[in-house]
Amino acid sequence: MAIFPEARERRLRKKICRKCGASNPWTAKKCRKCGSKDLRPKKLEKKGKA
Ligand SMILES: [Zn+2]
Repeated sequence: MAIFPEARERRLRKKICRKCGASNPWTAKKCRKCGSKDLRPKKLEKKGKA
């Protein structure tokens, strides 16, 4: 399966704060909760059939 609408993929992308674990927008430069700049990209999870 190679059909990945980029727009949708972008929407799924989030950044997780390493400090407090809050999820931030992909475009965030720092955590909106604690202000830490230590953000990591969230792992893209492939959801199969539940
Ligand atoms: Zn944080």
